[in-house]
Amino acid sequence: MALRLINTQTRRKEEFTSLEPGHVRMYTCGPTIYDFAHIGNYRAYTFEDLLRRYLKYRGYKVTQVMNLTDIDDKIIRGVNKKGITLKEYTNPYKQAFFEDLDALGIERAEHYPAATDHINEMVAIVQALVKKGHAYEADGSYYFKISSFPKYGSLSHMKLEDLKAGARIAADEYEKDTVSDFALWKAWDEADGPVYWDTPLGKGRPGWHIECSAMSMKYLGETFDIHTGGVDNMFPHHENEIAQSECATGRTFSRYWLHCEHLIVEGQKMSKSLGNFFTLRDLTAKGYSPVAVRYLLLATHYRQQLNFTMDGLDGAKAAVERLIDFKRNLQAVEGGSDNADFPAIVQKAYDGFGECLDDDLNISGALGEVFNFVKETNKLMSAKTLSKADAAKAVEALEKFDTVLGVLPKKEAGIDADIQALIDERIAARKEKNFARSDAIRDQLQAMGIILEDTPKGTTWKRQL
Ligand code: AMP
Ligand code: ZN
Repeated sequence: MALRLINTQTRRKEEFTSLEPGHVRMYTCGPTIYDFAHIGNYRAYTFEDLLRRYLKYRGYKVTQVMNLTDIDDKIIRGVNKKGITLKEYTNPYKQAFFEDLDALGIERAEHYPAATDHINEMVAIVQALVKKGHAYEADGSYYFKISSFPKYGSLSHMKLEDLKAGARIAADEYEKDTVSDFALWKAWDEADGPVYWDTPLGKGRPGWHIECSAMSMKYLGETFDIHTGGVDNMFPHHENEIAQSECATGRTFSRYWLHCEHLIVEGQKMSKSLGNFFTLRDLTAKGYSPVAVRYLLLATHYRQQLNFTMDGLDGAKAAVERLIDFKRNLQAVEGGSDNADFPAIVQKAYDGFGECLDDDLNISGALGEVFNFVKETNKLMSAKTLSKADAAKAVEALEKFDTVLGVLPKKEAGIDADIQALIDERIAARKEKNFARSDAIRDQLQAMGIILEDTPKGTTWKRQL
């Protein structure tokens, strides 16, 4: 079966093909680095990570670009309020963003271009648009003339008749349901303080939308395969990206558009402005592991709203623990003769997992297949009818699924060796009846989040979630 994705542009489930066989080029609207991202933002990035990982699971090479918006009204306000440079203002948030990505097991994209490094590319697009009659200058700023692009509104199904004749908008944040000519380049004014660039367009700075057109096309070409973002990006941001890119190049911009629904809290979008948000740091401070947060963000289909609750997070934690325990139990299996039923169980899991994800990334279905596999295999394990070779095949399947899920702990060679050394020392201390030392080691390991289990076969350990 082929991979099928719901394309926002057509509102239909379409078979996915890449422009270049075997290679997918995708663009993801990244964070505005003016503050710490909240877990609503990470829902969007986790969905994009699922897409990326599943494309790789299916054998595609993926080139992904995620921009860092480091010029925007909010950033400029912050810079001027604090009296520091733009980089001094954005750098700590940029660093925190990458730390969160790593903690959440979100694979790194191939490129993270920053808007401030691509001013020339943006200027070139604006110049091309002026030349072709799609943009005009007013008071030193440049605007895109949306009446020059009849296709405007096709992604979000906004109607061009809603356009207020001559209405222009300069702000990065504005009424989401007004259709207006939008700023490609904004002339400097005093409120911008030190944030400006001297370019052939004059002294000023780019608008938000042009950033994404310039950076996607620079790294992925004028036409690329997939463009993603949260549903709030669809209008006006993505609509504007399409208008300015397609008018500048005369070509299709992105071939597929995928939009992730919001993470909500008590019926409302999690957002900075409503104050109903948690950062990843807020949740880890409450004792939750990032992997539980990852599972929670991942486990609901991206086109459904995800209602955030602490109970949901506890459920996610329990699900991950179940998978980790399953793997540990499999690794302890010693049985000799292969189970005749097992090959069909494992094959069903592989087939089901792929069929679900092929269907517009039906992750809840795919997880259902994985947990069914856990249940069926556990039955054989408790009946002691699973062989060591069967168990190894089960671990192999689990690890393969985890290339997409990304929730099982990775081996950290150095750290794991240190833990083992402490465990060995504790065993030796206990043999010598040095219980003070053995208890101290247990406490030390506990502080590192390591739980010891003394079994008849020896001491095993696992990481606390
Ligand atoms: P921003 O930094 O606000 O531009 O948002 C970065 C990304 O996070 C965009 O793709 C947004 O669509 C997405 N986003 C923001 N809030 C939420 C939310 N509550 N749920 C899911 N995605 C969100
Ligand atoms: Zn964007």
